[in-house]
Amino acid sequence: MILLRTLSEVRERRESLWKNQKRLGFVPTMGALHEGHLELVRQAKKTSDEVWVSIFVNPLQFGPNEDLERYPRTFEKDCELLKSAGADAVFFPSPAEMTPPSATTFIEENTVSVPLCGALRPGHFKGVTTIVGKLFNLIQPHSAFFGEKDAQQVRVIERMVKDLLFPVEIKRVPTFRENDGLAMSSRNRYLSPDEREMAPELHTVLLKLETLWKTRPQITAQELETHGVQFLSHEPWKLQYLEVRDSESLERIEGPIQKEALIAVAAYLGNTRLIDNWVLKTS
Ligand code: AMP
Repeated sequence: MILLRTLSEVRERRESLWKNQKRLGFVPTMGALHEGHLELVRQAKKTSDEVWVSIFVNPLQFGPNEDLERYPRTFEKDCELLKSAGADAVFFPSPAEMTPPSATTFIEENTVSVPLCGALRPGHFKGVTTIVGKLFNLIQPHSAFFGEKDAQQVRVIERMVKDLLFPVEIKRVPTFRENDGLAMSSRNRYLSPDEREMAPELHTVLLKLETLWKTRPQITAQELETHGVQFLSHEPWKLQYLEVRDSESLERIEGPIQKEALIAVAAYLGNTRLIDNWVLKTS
């Protein structure tokens, strides 16, 4: 596995791949890697001659009171994991090159990015699309792999790619979970042992809502939301949102669920913000 540190190193390597007509698969990450990230690498390997992974804690996607400073950074361990998963290159750029203060151009999606996390984290998705767009322009991968764990994020990226004609294929990879159902996340390491024990409840609630919907298919999206909110209205959870929305457009659903729907949830456990989601399949 090779380490790419600068934009020019990336361009040089990219040129040689182009010349040799190699298919490049790309996995953007913020590091502090776990099996969920490695699953993206494994999926990418299936359809790519080379898989590149970027590790960049993107300052543009953190709000002023968020965890940018304390976000876990475990570069050496990340490289070991990526090597064992079969990644061919890791791109570890400097903030000076990726986000120079002189840059005044941004990419902003204005529909799919508005509700859910977009409503609670102003500027977050603008930071994501700007960096992912830059990485796509620099690396020019044939395909790029994103986790369903961040369901809204992958939908925002897909919209950006469609609207701005980025020549890259976006692949969604299902959420990778711990044995007890907790969605793997770099932030899980913030959880105290007690919080870690409680954390799978987020997933359990999503499954309970699916069961409820299957037994009462005429239940409205609003009623399902009300049940979900009740399930998580107890200490120590601090619910941010639990919403049932159209799985693709993320628009609100009026009445019963007729088309595939996404239940998306975000909640604090202590100081740790967790998100999860579940798709209700209609056919
Ligand atoms: P992050 O490093 O958290 O920005 O995540 C980088 C990529 O890994 C994103 O596309 C995430 O959706 C994906 N990812 C993170 N956790 C998981 C997981 N548990 N299962 C699948 N993909 C994941």
